[in-house]
Amino acid sequence: MNDKKNNQNNPGDNFRPHRQFVNRFNKTRVIRADGVTPSGQSNHSPANPSGMNANAAGQNNNNGHRVVMGRGARKIAPFRRPAASQFRARAPFKANFNAGAKRFEANKSFSAVKHAPLPARHIAGARMNIVRPDAARSMRRGPSKPMVNRDGDVIPALAPDAIRVIPFGGVEEIGRNMTAIEFGSALGGDIIVVDIGFQFKDENTPGIDYILPNTKYLEERQDKVKAVIITHGHLDHIGGIPYIMPRIGNPTIYTRLLTSALIQKRQEEFPHVPKLDIHIVEKNSTVTIGSTKVRFFAVTHTIPDSMGVIIETPYGSIVHTGDLKMDHMDGVAVPEEDAEYDRAFPHTGGPAGPTNVLMLMADSTNVEMPGFSIPEKTVHKNLEEYIKNAKGRLIIATFSSLLERLLKMVEFAEKYNKKIVLEGRSLKSNIEICKHLGLVKTKKETIITTDDMDNYPPDRIVILATGAQGDEFAALMRISNKTHAKVKITPRDTIILSSSVIPGNERAVQRLKDNLSRQGAKIIHYRTAEVHSTGHAYREETMWIHRKIHPKFFMPLHGYHYMLRVHGDVAKEANGLKEEDVVIPDNSSIIEIRDKGAKIIKLKEKAPSGLVLVDGFSVGDVQDVVIRDRKALAEDGIFIVFGIMNATTGKLKKSPDIISRGFVYLRENQELLHEVRLLVKDTAERSTKGMNPLNLDYVKDNITDAVSKFILQKTAKRPMVIPVILTI
Ligand SMILES: [Zn+2]
Repeated sequence: MNDKKNNQNNPGDNFRPHRQFVNRFNKTRVIRADGVTPSGQSNHSPANPSGMNANAAGQNNNNGHRVVMGRGARKIAPFRRPAASQFRARAPFKANFNAGAKRFEANKSFSAVKHAPLPARHIAGARMNIVRPDAARSMRRGPSKPMVNRDGDVIPALAPDAIRVIPFGGVEEIGRNMTAIEFGSALGGDIIVVDIGFQFKDENTPGIDYILPNTKYLEERQDKVKAVIITHGHLDHIGGIPYIMPRIGNPTIYTRLLTSALIQKRQEEFPHVPKLDIHIVEKNSTVTIGSTKVRFFAVTHTIPDSMGVIIETPYGSIVHTGDLKMDHMDGVAVPEEDAEYDRAFPHTGGPAGPTNVLMLMADSTNVEMPGFSIPEKTVHKNLEEYIKNAKGRLIIATFSSLLERLLKMVEFAEKYNKKIVLEGRSLKSNIEICKHLGLVKTKKETIITTDDMDNYPPDRIVILATGAQGDEFAALMRISNKTHAKVKITPRDTIILSSSVIPGNERAVQRLKDNLSRQGAKIIHYRTAEVHSTGHAYREETMWIHRKIHPKFFMPLHGYHYMLRVHGDVAKEANGLKEEDVVIPDNSSIIEIRDKGAKIIKLKEKAPSGLVLVDGFSVGDVQDVVIRDRKALAEDGIFIVFGIMNATTGKLKKSPDIISRGFVYLRENQELLHEVRLLVKDTAERSTKGMNPLNLDYVKDNITDAVSKFILQKTAKRPMVIPVILTI
């Protein structure tokens, strides 16, 4: 199988504007390298809550609660004088409730409104005295885990002659790759950053758009950050740039041409952030950053212009490979690959002799896979055959991030006098950039539009499409479910899925294949033919890379903890490194090279490491209580009790209204509702007996307690119970 990493880069999309690309609550992108489908996957769409509204009269009251709340805000405002500490505790909930209320209104188009700015009315509503009593929290399952604002330890000063390396992300997951190299004051005192990626949300962060590396350490040392080097243009290496660059002082970015174009293109979606200063380098460039010389080397990956970085220090060089595999035929490196590594890492005393490399950091994504991966050239050869011999229309679906392969397919199509149709925004955009940079030279007439397709016989048409992962909005999915305006499947079509299946997407891909084959198309995929290869070195390739670079110390990057351990063993086997020469980091571990390069250690202190999340328009300040609320809402729904209370007598004016979502179908549970109403009435009256003035918080806490317990007994569910009590 597999392309673990391309997941990140992908489901197709370097360039989808971020709103579109994130509004997929039910498309959890969980990337697991072990091929296990993670649970918690996806099919609970809040767009279709199973509950319904019911007020006392049993009417469906979809919009009613909004009106009520607007009024309520004015009426109950005088009662709300929480202590400062109470206020802080409640604030996250209010924001979340607000989002929840919007969701009810939207009902059918959750995703469409999710990121829209909040209307003023709702912001006012959020200031209401809506309190989520602690009782409800205590009903929750399991203890809460701190997720954000987990500040790091007190970090000791860096010795003047020492070097510090900190991976801020990418070593406990696949994604959000970012590493910093910091020099002690005697060595210039600068910080150089390599890559600024992001990670897609996982099952632990519902509703979140992306997860960023925690860069607080760098933000506090902004003046020292002299440069950011970007190894290649995949999102797990460039995705965090618009969010993080302004926070670390917007230093100069050093990268190669295509990567710079991809970064700039993405930056267009963030017009408010400061302009980037990008310095374009080549694989054999040398640049001086502060007092440090930095060189580069070309690596084989799935996107052109991928490079590794060589940072020269007085004790030897520090090498960061970025993502890479080995360009080989039958396990033997091709001559260009061999020559490039020899140029970058000259050995003394023969090929097995030492190099000047002090420390290596390298990609661990596929190190668990035995042997060698399928060479990309084999994939190209096979695709060329399919393109050449196609007797009907050919549809090839792949990741838009696999740019090398896409460019090859364009080339082959032209070679065999076929016409190319591009389907998918990110794919079109990427090809456009490559054409602009001269990375692919096609005749103007080779790429045609879907409108022109009918002017050619089917066997001259090759459609390149996004959506091989069963992605709901991508081109191939729309083609498969017949919602594509121009492309209809016929039994003469052949469809090649030139990608592996990202763990977590199995069911979506199965549905995709079912839909396509139901319409008679022939399907070829990576299990039936060699039409896909990974961009990340398998174990034997990794071994080769280690022997070529031959470091004194090693720290694995890019992978889950277990992969890093496996990679550590490879380092020991390849060059005889000892246990103390290999450091296995966690995110924000602080690694130091001390004693003039004599030893490498991992400090017990960590840089700040709390999760930093992109959630709609907000970055970093999503509280863990918000995430927990989302999980609770997803599992058990919400149950709102709305009552009007006489401020003098403490009696409810009429039977309370009940609104719920995602809990039980209220219309069929009238008996339960009836009992809840009686319980609320009774609890309210008992709680207010002899109370003057009324303490509404106390009353609401009691109602929440009573209702939560009652519902749990009756239904074995724990919906979030929210009492809203107005007084008149
Ligand atoms: Zn990559």
